[in-house]
Amino acid sequence: MNLEIFPENIRPHIIPKVEGKLFYRCLGCASEFPIEKLLYVCPDCNQVLLIHDKNEAALTRHSGDTWQKIFDYRKMLKIPALKGIYRYHEFIGSCIPLDSILYLGEGHTPIVEASPHLKEKTGLNFFYKNDGQNPSASFKDRGMASALSSIKYLIDQNLVSDVIAVCASTGDTSAAAALYASYLKPLIKSAVLLPHKKVTSQQLAQPLGSGARVFEIPGVFDDCMKIVEHLSTQYPVVLLNSKNAWRILGQESYSYEIAQDFDWDMTNKAVVVPIGNAGNISAIMNGFLKFYKAGIIQQLPKIIGVQSEHADPVFQYYLEPDENKRQFKPVNTRPSVAQAAMIGNPVSMPRVIEIAKRYNQESSHQNVFFVQVTEQSIMDWQLTANQNGHITCTQGGECLAGLINASAQGIVTKEDTAILDATAHAIKFSEFQELYFKEQIPDTYEIQSHPGFINLPDLITPDNPELVPSQENRLEEKDFHRFVQEISKKIAKELNL
Ligand SMILES: *Cc1c(COP(=O)(O)O)cnc(C)c1O
Ligand SMILES: [Zn+2]
Repeated sequence: MNLEIFPENIRPHIIPKVEGKLFYRCLGCASEFPIEKLLYVCPDCNQVLLIHDKNEAALTRHSGDTWQKIFDYRKMLKIPALKGIYRYHEFIGSCIPLDSILYLGEGHTPIVEASPHLKEKTGLNFFYKNDGQNPSASFKDRGMASALSSIKYLIDQNLVSDVIAVCASTGDTSAAAALYASYLKPLIKSAVLLPHKKVTSQQLAQPLGSGARVFEIPGVFDDCMKIVEHLSTQYPVVLLNSKNAWRILGQESYSYEIAQDFDWDMTNKAVVVPIGNAGNISAIMNGFLKFYKAGIIQQLPKIIGVQSEHADPVFQYYLEPDENKRQFKPVNTRPSVAQAAMIGNPVSMPRVIEIAKRYNQESSHQNVFFVQVTEQSIMDWQLTANQNGHITCTQGGECLAGLINASAQGIVTKEDTAILDATAHAIKFSEFQELYFKEQIPDTYEIQSHPGFINLPDLITPDNPELVPSQENRLEEKDFHRFVQEISKKIAKELNL
């Protein structure tokens, strides 16, 4: 693309310069560590880290207006490294040279307005942002593009080699990790740990298909996470869970895209996010804060975090109104159809606490809310959304259930436009839909199948078994004609034609 077509004041900034001076900072003791180290927790106090930029001043060297134009014009480029989350290079990983960036098609997922019928039914204005349309069919690809680009960068600088990447997963992290690691074959090998029988068969198929080593571990996600943490402290492995601060950095792109999708106007917007390990909501709040500080957006949207009754440690924490009295207690999870968010001891809890506090302060009023929903409402709202033209997973159903709840509490109003995170594609979680339709959801989930939602295939056969065609025995032309007529007649009757 000919850069001459861009306005003169934008042209020098269209291709980002590699100038960021990133470093890790501990959320516990504020110690700082060089970004070239493979680091997941503070070596001094074991707390999680966030990535900051010593060259932060560079983010205010342009007016918010100019940044908006840079990003809008950058949208026209054909350079693969800048087509995904790194469109916002200065905010996402400004130390990474373009040729170390991994791009597999992640980011810039569609924002789809709720169908007219769905809007009428809920009485609310909202959009789904379809993060299930990422390459491995969940938002985890955003963080993984960032984490794997950072590793590629270290490999390119000869700072690491023969990398073995590991993660624990409720299903989607491992699918994304295995995909992105396999793209860098043979530089990186990956291994994933999954809680046995606690991921869907589609999610299990994904890392297997990408050629990763897959280990199934008895217990729940929180147990797998402990093993992976142990591995990462005892052995030379790269941790790809959202404990890895690069994951958070990449997932901030979700906020940047929402800002750009709404032409940088965040007035009366509410962003609804399901919470599991709490990496995503941390990243989303942090992303909006960065754009706000750089003057790219003038308002901070409301943030609404949603949890199921069956896995609600973050919601429980914030039930105490006095922040000095709040005490975090992990919960024992119960089976949840929002299985990707079924986490009792979220790794990013310290991040949520710190960032939500800053978010409220910068907003000058409470702007982060947490709501809890029933399993029944998750399933019913997911099915309702999908029967009205959407493609959301159960966690996206959780978002819609959360929006309804937030509206009942007056947290969102009819004046607001909500953006719901369809964190994964519906097909990854179709097993829950199937159990619902067959009225076979185990009692522990506490979900009844409402007849109005149930949808099962009807097998239509001819009355005369002689008239059934098969691959081996093709029917005579006359019989085949009778078969077509009879079946058509039966279908027409079913459809009241
Ligand atoms: C991981 C995941 C979540 C939870 O996100 P966290 O960052 O762990 O809070 C929600 N939905 C889906 C589909 C996921 O894969
Ligand atoms: Zn520390």
